[in-house]
Amino acid sequence: MITINDFNFKDKKALIRVDFNVPLNDKLEVTDATRIEAAKPTITKILKDGGSVILMSHLGRPKGKEEKFSLKNIVSKVEEILEQKIKFVSDCIGSEVETEIENLQNNQIILLENLRFHKEEKEGDIEFAKKLSKFGDIYVNDAFGTAHRAHASTAIIAQFFPKNKCFGLLLAKEIESINYVLNNSVKPVTAVIGGAKVSSKIEVINNIMDKVDNIIIGGGMAFTFIKAEGGKIGDSLVENDKLELALEILAKAKVNKTRIHLPIDVIAADAFSNDANTMIIEANDIPDGWMGLDSGPKTNVGNAFVIAGSKTILWNGPLGVFEMKKFAKGTRELGYAIKDATLEGAFSLVGGGDSVAAVKKFQFADKVSYVSTGGGAMLEMLEGKKLPGIEAILN
Ligand code: AMP
Repeated sequence: MITINDFNFKDKKALIRVDFNVPLNDKLEVTDATRIEAAKPTITKILKDGGSVILMSHLGRPKGKEEKFSLKNIVSKVEEILEQKIKFVSDCIGSEVETEIENLQNNQIILLENLRFHKEEKEGDIEFAKKLSKFGDIYVNDAFGTAHRAHASTAIIAQFFPKNKCFGLLLAKEIESINYVLNNSVKPVTAVIGGAKVSSKIEVINNIMDKVDNIIIGGGMAFTFIKAEGGKIGDSLVENDKLELALEILAKAKVNKTRIHLPIDVIAADAFSNDANTMIIEANDIPDGWMGLDSGPKTNVGNAFVIAGSKTILWNGPLGVFEMKKFAKGTRELGYAIKDATLEGAFSLVGGGDSVAAVKKFQFADKVSYVSTGGGAMLEMLEGKKLPGIEAILN
């Protein structure tokens, strides 16, 4: 895999696609700077070589030039993290940008305005990509969060750098971690797949089935499997059009000798609320009017046992409605188990929007081996798809 470590950036302008799509609060302050911090090693290496850096990113889903999606809102945070002043330019193409880039000196950084202020970015417009490509000598893709999109700055642009294109350190690490878990890992391998819907994770389960030893299925999606097997799930979340598919997955797992672990017991509630009445009950015997919102104590012990016996762990999706205190225990205890296994030498990879939020909420982020920065991109890699942003560098 070709990375920035294969280049010397002395006197070179590096055009880096970063993923600075960070959350902002009402005052337009950055509330989670993980993605900016994650891009720092790449930027530092290029500056250390004696090169200069042009950063390009999107922020949110703007309809035209909306102030709240301007990257100027994140300038002070980027400066704080990179520990140096940066130059912000109020567009990402055009004469002002060209002048600033001509004047750019080694060791300096320019941040371009939100790429998505131009609709050509998402359209993957080749002329727009060509204009951007003029700004740098070497193209670096370090944006895992958008690697599954064939946008102008993430994939289309790479063709204008036939020899001078590479992965940043973050993107390289993301690819390595996922490939390691799926293809080269130490056994036993356990995947924990949770979250709301089976439909969003079916491709993942199908693709990882013959690569892992155990799959712990939790969260709302478990009830589709339990109902398919004839269990009573009360008012729990269910996708009735996926019952057959759930049975097919269970049958395929049997053939593959992949052990599927469904919840044995749950915390059931009489309303989808933190103030609901709750009870612990068998996962396949939930009365009408009640819904399973978290894994129960027997399930949590069972999950911890499986995790303790694993050498490689992949976690995607929470085991309950962890946003509500009453239904956070299953997800939290799973986090503890993964933390302990990691301390014992297992490799643990956590990824996919809500599990990352859970890991942060319960402060496990530095206690697992790797936390992925890309939700959708990670899911697509786990589904076995080729990501345009990665292919564009490899080909
Ligand atoms: P996903 O985006 O598919 O990973 O789903 C994450 C969401 O699933 C979180 O917001 C959880 O609150 C929700 N979730 C987890 N377990 C359940 C459950 N038993 N019932 C309803 N929602 C759940």
